[in-house]
Amino acid sequence: MSQARLMDGTGLARRIVEDASKRAADLTVRTGARPCLATVLVGADPASVTYVRMKQNRCRRAGIESRRVELPAATTTGELVGTLRALSEDPGVHGILLQHPMGEHIDERAAFEAISPEKDVDGVTFASFATMSFGLPGFVSCTPGGIMRLLDEYGVDPSGRRAVVVGRSAILGKPVGMLLLGRDATVTYCHSRTRDLPSVVREADIVVAAVGRPRLIRGEDIRPGAVVVDAGYNPGNIGDVDFGSAVERAGLITPVPGGVGPMTIATLLEQTVEAAARQLGPVPRTGSADSRGTA
Ligand code: NAP
Repeated sequence: MSQARLMDGTGLARRIVEDASKRAADLTVRTGARPCLATVLVGADPASVTYVRMKQNRCRRAGIESRRVELPAATTTGELVGTLRALSEDPGVHGILLQHPMGEHIDERAAFEAISPEKDVDGVTFASFATMSFGLPGFVSCTPGGIMRLLDEYGVDPSGRRAVVVGRSAILGKPVGMLLLGRDATVTYCHSRTRDLPSVVREADIVVAAVGRPRLIRGEDIRPGAVVVDAGYNPGNIGDVDFGSAVERAGLITPVPGGVGPMTIATLLEQTVEAAARQLGPVPRTGSADSRGTA
């Protein structure tokens, strides 16, 4: 059997960011205001600090202002909610990213719900989940939105196909399944209580791995010709799919790194510019990347 074709997230993400950056420049010229993403970090967890810094650098390179809000680890839920409400009301801020996970003493849901849906460019609020599930205008969770863009880019039409999503987290597994359902796939969710995972995965035309267990899904579990999207990112740049064996069976597959990862941040930047455009007034799209997944 021939090897699967790779889905290049790095290249597609670059084009999306170029497009977002042109839109940001147009918006700045037209309105005098630069799109602005506020990043909120509670505490100093090294991985979170790195993620936030990376997102800020990418914003800067794309002509998006980033406002950094750093709060001490001992911040209470009430204080965090107050900060997020103030940012939600600040006309100079168009998108808000609350880095998570946060300390266990914080009520994460209460914090997310303090973000106004118009500025929820990371797609974490109940309102965003609802609009995404109903296919209404709003913002999607960035990794699921990025996955759908990759599928579109490679001509994968989920309609009528059997999609198996392994993982059901609120930011990844659950929303990507909803987006696939919205595109008329027949969706099955798997999780830690699923019995005989390989037998379920074997039925899939489209597999999305969103677990956080290195090489959990083996090539022998992949139906020949299936589309394999590996969102997993484990230490050592290892995905949730055993790439070496899966590439021999799949029709299309995302590499790790260079598949889903770059699409997440590209979606965040694109949604930030879209949020700014909605708040400041519309600017025509430029470039070739389309808007599916962010409507
Ligand atoms: P999470 O919140 O820990 O959720 C993991 C999910 O996997 C849960 O639903 C869990 O089931 C399920 N699971 C655990 N063990 C399983 C098993 N043996 N068989 C089947 N399902 C199992 O993780 P997450 O935040 O969704 O992240 C998942 C992975 O994606 C991680 O590797 C993370 O680093 C990566 N990720 C990548 C990006 C990116 O930009 N590329 C973004 C976000 C996350 P239960 O619900 O039953 O516990």
